[in-house]
Amino acid sequence: MSDTPAPSAAAPGASSQPSAAAATSLAATSLAAKAEALAAKAAALDAADELADRRALFALDDASVYLDGNSLGALPRHVPERMRDVITRQWGELRIRSWTEGDWWTAPERIGDRIAPLVGAAPGRIVVGDSTSVNVFKALVAAVRLLDPTDPARDEILVDATTFPSDGYIAQSAARMTGKPLVPVDPAELVGSLGPRTAVVLMNHVDFRTGRLHDLPGITAAVHEAGALAVWDLCHSAGALPVGLDAHGVDLAVGCTYKYLNGGPGSPAFLYVAGRHQAAFDSPLPGWTSHADPFAMASDFEAAEGATRGRVGTPDILSMLALEAALDVWDGVRIETVRAKSLALTDFFLECVEAYAPAGRVSPLTPAAHAERGSQVALRCAEAPAVMDALIARGVVGDLRRPDVLRFGFTPLYVRFTDAERAARVLGEVLAAG
Ligand SMILES: *Cc1c(COP(=O)(O)O)cnc(C)c1O
Repeated sequence: MSDTPAPSAAAPGASSQPSAAAATSLAATSLAAKAEALAAKAAALDAADELADRRALFALDDASVYLDGNSLGALPRHVPERMRDVITRQWGELRIRSWTEGDWWTAPERIGDRIAPLVGAAPGRIVVGDSTSVNVFKALVAAVRLLDPTDPARDEILVDATTFPSDGYIAQSAARMTGKPLVPVDPAELVGSLGPRTAVVLMNHVDFRTGRLHDLPGITAAVHEAGALAVWDLCHSAGALPVGLDAHGVDLAVGCTYKYLNGGPGSPAFLYVAGRHQAAFDSPLPGWTSHADPFAMASDFEAAEGATRGRVGTPDILSMLALEAALDVWDGVRIETVRAKSLALTDFFLECVEAYAPAGRVSPLTPAAHAERGSQVALRCAEAPAVMDALIARGVVGDLRRPDVLRFGFTPLYVRFTDAERAARVLGEVLAAG
């Protein structure tokens, strides 16, 4: 339950007041009535929530409302015990034998196969390792190398102009290295910007700042129509909504595992290579673990088959096995159920913000249309830095995107409707006080 009680009706006996105070008291009464109705609605939505049992799997308590799972997912409770085994027995006792007798060597492909159903990929198409930033580099350069070399007129890399900065910096570097000019394009104008010069398009599936969901099926189809290749960054959609990588014919994709997949701080990212591109996938970072016969220690590189080509060096086993353990919370969960709850949560949060926030103080940047919304709500607010500090001090943990964006991430596996109501109510109180 909330540690911030809903405002109660004006105290009895406060009736012999001048009229301004009577108006204030009337407003307080109507706010209290709204709060009561929204709290009741939240409780009913939680009672009907198919995913309600998942929250107990996470190390969360009621001291705060955690709405920052789009930056760092919460810890699944069983992970520390699993890591104790990985560290003390696998590393401490078995030592080198764990690479082969244990589960270490094949972890990148095995964990890729665990993520695959969540993003609509068949087994063998995803490999886990390195950071998202590094995988953006691999995917972009590999996409350029997949193009027909007899078509040099196809020379432009288009990048989402609102992209997460790392993707943009890496696209600039990849463009310099491959000799292809980089063209930043507003996502709304992307389809109209495609043409015979378009080689590769790099898009974020969900905008990290506004929470806008881009039309992956439509854009991918338009990119293919133009004869180019589509690379998608799924950092803010993997684990939050259905992606359908195989069904929509995405060429290459990357994504993060420490956001909605709860893999832990800095947990390794993933790289998807469509089945039809695997034989020609030519990584710009070939390493000994992507070699067809790594232990031959050959001087010439010969790429392994399949997604293994996306590997580079020795996998970071501790982070990787923490991620593998964390993925257990998805057992028996359909991503469509997660999406339905995510939309219901963000709808309800927006409804509560509308009810509680003093008029004109915050405005949603996140689209109202479900087809254009990821799993977060971004609110523009002139005093955003001070407001977020005050929210965190009162146990509502979202984050700030400077200068004026309040960001609230809704992780359907552990955020409740009562949390959404509480967060909006505290936001209203902070705004009214400030
Ligand atoms: C979170 C995020 C990243 C993070 O990249 P790292 O290499 O893990 O730091 C990259 N791209 C996007 C779109 C993100 O949302």
